[in-house]
Amino acid sequence: MKQNKMTIEIKAILENVATIRVAISSFISNLNITIDELMDIKTSVSEAVTNSIEHGYDGIYTEDSTVLVNAYIISDDEDIVKIEVIDKGIGIEDIELATTPTYTSKPELEHAGMGFTIMESFMDEIVIDSTKDNGTMITLTKKIKKKKSTVL
Ligand code: ADP
Ligand code: MG
Repeated sequence: MKQNKMTIEIKAILENVATIRVAISSFISNLNITIDELMDIKTSVSEAVTNSIEHGYDGIYTEDSTVLVNAYIISDDEDIVKIEVIDKGIGIEDIELATTPTYTSKPELEHAGMGFTIMESFMDEIVIDSTKDNGTMITLTKKIKKKKSTVL
């Protein structure tokens, strides 16, 4: 088994969502991965990081507020990409409600409430670890499908 890891701790501001997308793409670019798989991972990570910034630090944001992203590639018979998105924000009081499709605590801000639904459908597994006032950790896992090798 082979493992690779990357950690990014970055200021919790929206312009850094793009920075994390690029860093994640680069980290997994050596895998034998399709554009679709790459898009699924980038989109899911963007949703989780955006949530940390927009919801996690809502009302409690300071200059020190950061989002921590741990990315792992675990390679055995197949490759598994695992990404943890961690904030020290307000936490989620009711996870069942928060993950209900179209539920948003910010309807006034044109939020569609589809972030968790997107993460669930694009990744193989999503684990939400959150307690009120203690922050949130989202763990996203995706197996990269074995590709048939082509001999030209
Ligand atoms: P949206 O971001 O459009 O509101 P999501 O499905 O992404 O929809 O999230 C649903 C709800 O879960 C949010 O409205 C918010 O109340 C809560 N939430 C999500 N992520 C976090 C987080 N990191 N910290 C606190 N609350 C969160
Ligand atoms: Mg969201």
